[in-house]
Amino acid sequence: MFKLIRNGIGFWGPDRTVGPMHLLVDGDTIAAVSRNEIPAPEGARVYDLNGRLLLPGFVDAHTHLAQSYGRGIYDNRHLTQWLWTMIRYLHLDEDETYTAAQLACIEALKSGTTTVAEMTSLGVNVDASVQAIADCGLRGVVSSCLGDYQEGDNPAPPLDAEGVLEEMTRLHRQWHNSHEGRITVRLSPVGLPACSEELMRGTRALADELDVGIHTHCCEGEIETQNAYERFGCSEVEALGQFGVLGPDVQLVHCVWLTDRDRQLIAESGSHVVHCPSTNLKITDGLPQMVPLQRLGVNIALGCDGQSSSGSYDLFKEARLASLLGKGLSADAAAFPAETALEMITRNGARAIGLGETVGELTVGHKADLTVIDYPQVHLIDEQRLLSNLIYAGSGGDVDSVLVNGEVLMWHRELLHLDEQAILAKALKQMRRAARILPN
Ligand SMILES: [Zn+2]
Repeated sequence: MFKLIRNGIGFWGPDRTVGPMHLLVDGDTIAAVSRNEIPAPEGARVYDLNGRLLLPGFVDAHTHLAQSYGRGIYDNRHLTQWLWTMIRYLHLDEDETYTAAQLACIEALKSGTTTVAEMTSLGVNVDASVQAIADCGLRGVVSSCLGDYQEGDNPAPPLDAEGVLEEMTRLHRQWHNSHEGRITVRLSPVGLPACSEELMRGTRALADELDVGIHTHCCEGEIETQNAYERFGCSEVEALGQFGVLGPDVQLVHCVWLTDRDRQLIAESGSHVVHCPSTNLKITDGLPQMVPLQRLGVNIALGCDGQSSSGSYDLFKEARLASLLGKGLSADAAAFPAETALEMITRNGARAIGLGETVGELTVGHKADLTVIDYPQVHLIDEQRLLSNLIYAGSGGDVDSVLVNGEVLMWHRELLHLDEQAILAKALKQMRRAARILPN
């Protein structure tokens, strides 16, 4: 079944000049991309973009979707206090997890995100969360966020290293390459501060055996990062290197508290970094220095993280903030230009989560995951400065239509396969029951 998407505009070539763009989809795959009109094959469905901007679908390289029910009620807390509060006061059953994740998927879709790298939070039903991604039509690289070690007086985690590895194996068996290949699985030890050496080494062995990547938090909190020196006699990144975890199939999330040596190790290992600037600023993790990593050649993607910590699932916000923060912290106005910001939420994101050959570019043979931006609009009127205007003035509300795997999921802002109003009404009732609101 062909779909012809005609009369769009797009960015062409290394200098990203704007020109006409027509695109042919064959099933779930991009079959042609051209500046010239493409004749409609017999039986093709034709979609006319009327001059709108066609982009690769956005890739969110780190999410905790079910945290949508905790949004807006645990504000003004530092990382440790925020996490403590959420673990104790946000309790979701299976149906609540499913709807909370649906709510997040709708927000992601409506702001142009077509792929999420979902790390389902500790204590939340991972299968319900993955089912929501599958049912909403998104592409998902999914994992369950698990640890086997706890510092201090906190209660011990429910699983030991062996139990965690068994659960990772179960998740892989149940979901990997399911739903027309849209759902794939990675392994997520939550992060070294909550994992043993045995679990980290075991995760690497299992990842190699299953031929899947690893998705883990790294160097987010200052105190937690420092604890590695007491536990392992070296930095967190050095320990991950010694345990065999680092490599080109790994996405390291946050990377706020790195030494120069850590940056070298990440670069040499080919590991990818996922930058979550809204979370880092809102729960005062610290100021993440991404420009030095980029200068070493590290691939940097962006993540909206959990809505409870970042506040939103709109990658436009992360792209703008990453660009501004990169410029500000490096005192280099040329750092992280708009071109780089767009790459971070498309091609870089795809590479970071192991889908570099599958999505992230409008290339023949890639899956047809597409985001259409309404154009022209008051803040997007000149083709010659469209990319800059898109990053610094654009928002998720500018997204007109979205396709994933060749399926039209949203057309002119209407979700075609989901009853948005019914889901919102159900979510409102549930979130008031499931998430206890605390005084600040
Ligand atoms: Zn996270």
